[in-house]
Amino acid sequence: MMGPSHALSGAAVWLAGSWAVDHFAGYAQSPLAIGVGTAVCAGGALLPDLDLSGKVTRNQGGATVARTFGVFSLFVAEVIEKISLGVYTATKLSRDPRRNNGHRTFTHTLPFAGLVGWGTTALCASYGKWAVVAVVFFMAGLALRGLFDEWAERAGWLIVTLASGVIAWFTAAHLPGDRGYPILGFAVGVGCVVHLLGDMVTKNGVPILWPIPMGRRMWRMIGVPNGMAVRVGGRTEVVVLRTVFTLIAILSVFGMFAPHVLQRLDLDVWADG
Ligand SMILES: [Zn+2]
Repeated sequence: MMGPSHALSGAAVWLAGSWAVDHFAGYAQSPLAIGVGTAVCAGGALLPDLDLSGKVTRNQGGATVARTFGVFSLFVAEVIEKISLGVYTATKLSRDPRRNNGHRTFTHTLPFAGLVGWGTTALCASYGKWAVVAVVFFMAGLALRGLFDEWAERAGWLIVTLASGVIAWFTAAHLPGDRGYPILGFAVGVGCVVHLLGDMVTKNGVPILWPIPMGRRMWRMIGVPNGMAVRVGGRTEVVVLRTVFTLIAILSVFGMFAPHVLQRLDLDVWADG
């Protein structure tokens, strides 16, 4: 799938999950906490594609997500792509093909999702609020780039970076600082898993079984059968899937906040009468 669909699916899953734990388990979050979680999960749903690097020296190419913070994130993507290729080459078995590019390898596995989720939680637990602000800054940038791709393209990376800075600053000013926010790491991990599912419905699949060897292959690409696969950037993705994700997101927000708003209105009506 393309960036905007990944980001949208991450946001939809986080909002639907927040609604579900609120509705069924009575776990209500503040609007700010829901907003931060949604942005981080949407950003996390783009994170695996930070393995698609371009030409850093010429400031060209790379996945949209790799261009979020201009040449800086393009450089990060280059490093991640090389590390992923290293992991691929080091763990490939005799039947795995040779590769000279690390896209859709290590960052597209469940251990990677667990690792970045755990790493984010550990970072926030050790460094508290400032780590939270850094995570929110980075993830909000990815989310903006993904969710508002046309705006981000026109505005350029500097504006996207500034906007992420404003979001991070707002979060820092309003979140209570005496907690570890394990939920942030959870949101990053969930986002990565949502990304894998999104790539699995397209034709190429992802190496979801890694590191379980099967038939002298460690990096088997797993996805839905070709006949059912969604074409990247095709009508099914751009029209059907994005509409469904948007509807899920809107209904979840409505489900979480409408009852409170209605209750308020009701009370006001009574008070007036
Ligand atoms: Zn991907």
